[in-house]
Amino acid sequence: MTNFHNQFSRRKFITIAGSVAAGSIILNAGLSNPGSAQSKGLETTKVKLGYIPIVEAAPLIIAKEKGFFAKHGMTDIELSKQASWGAARDNVEIGSSGGGIDGGQWQMPMPYYISMGKITKGNKPIPMYVLLQLNTQGNGISVSDKHKGQKISLKVSDAKAYFDKLKAGGSRFKAAYTFPQANQDFWIRYWLAAGGINPDTDVELLTVPSAQTVANMKTGTMDAFSTGDPWPYRIVIDKIGFLAALTAEIWKNHPEEYLGMRADWVDKNPKATKAILKAIMEAQQWCDNFGNRKELAEICAGREYFNVPINVLEGPLLGKYDKGDGKKLDDKTMAPYYWKDQRGSVSYPYRSHDLWFLTESVRWGFLPPDTLDKAKGMISKVNREGLWREAAKELGIPAADIPKSTSRGVETFFDGIKFDPENPKAYLRSLKIKKVSI
Ligand code: CA
Repeated sequence: MTNFHNQFSRRKFITIAGSVAAGSIILNAGLSNPGSAQSKGLETTKVKLGYIPIVEAAPLIIAKEKGFFAKHGMTDIELSKQASWGAARDNVEIGSSGGGIDGGQWQMPMPYYISMGKITKGNKPIPMYVLLQLNTQGNGISVSDKHKGQKISLKVSDAKAYFDKLKAGGSRFKAAYTFPQANQDFWIRYWLAAGGINPDTDVELLTVPSAQTVANMKTGTMDAFSTGDPWPYRIVIDKIGFLAALTAEIWKNHPEEYLGMRADWVDKNPKATKAILKAIMEAQQWCDNFGNRKELAEICAGREYFNVPINVLEGPLLGKYDKGDGKKLDDKTMAPYYWKDQRGSVSYPYRSHDLWFLTESVRWGFLPPDTLDKAKGMISKVNREGLWREAAKELGIPAADIPKSTSRGVETFFDGIKFDPENPKAYLRSLKIKKVSI
């Protein structure tokens, strides 16, 4: 069925492309050009990008489905669904020439870990570039219904006595994420530590692949889970848990996942890279339009992509959450914005955000403290925000919508803690619970 649908769509596309090529140039001018003219001058029209079936991937999916990749000349894009973050890492290690991928969607700071060789086979460094932020916010921490009524919410300090009781009873509260030492691990850790709960000693943290989420929560293998939708909201809809906190509540307008690619691919194909960036930027602006959000939910929910009921995605994409604990939320600023939010461009990869992810890695002992002394040099190597700027200019984005600085400035978290990118050590000193001594 899916294959038939694919073939049908492809045939239809080829027919349209053929008729456009045969038509007059004047007629073509206003159409979404399927690419032949745009492809000229690109080093390649082919690329293979990995994605994980969660809302963070939406701009990639829309860039393909709405023809933005083709419009910018990238006519041979393959979006490759990854079984897990570990699989994505393995596939970028081998690259598309070896049957893997050239880049794709990443949690932070995975592109840094891969560039350093921290999480690769034999610790071999595979240089990568961070090119664009795919989305902001849009993640949640869901908790099993068996803990309902124990005051587990954003202000988790209210449940400290309960966590202590579980620990004393020999069964620590188990919180899971999809990949260690990156976004989801950080959101759980930040939330718990802000409530006086030490994530390394008071609870148990573990990795669970998204596909096993519902089963593991039902059987009690895990008590809490953090990832992108459809998972947190699916837990609510399936009536097995509730949303204790949205990541948007923990850190308003926080950076979430990124487009990252192998450095050798980008260095070899700088024009094609910018074409990819322009296509995703257009897709992000399409996604930002709340008038498109229902269609966005429909496309992503489809069998080829997430293969979930549409209502699991609609709520989160519209900022409408039934938190499953009697609380309802209807707030568009809680929705995962893709292009702009109250603090400027979401899509622009601020170097100050990369620094926060590296600092947080130091906080929990994932990277050594001297990382902070080397961070500036490391970030300028990996984060290629200049390419984003060039692509934005070429696309005709107004100067006012292109950030002037590589820093978004001071960030404030829900517990009042501030991260000043000019002084990450002061941020670490201000945190009570941490693994690093600074
Ligand atoms: Ca995520």
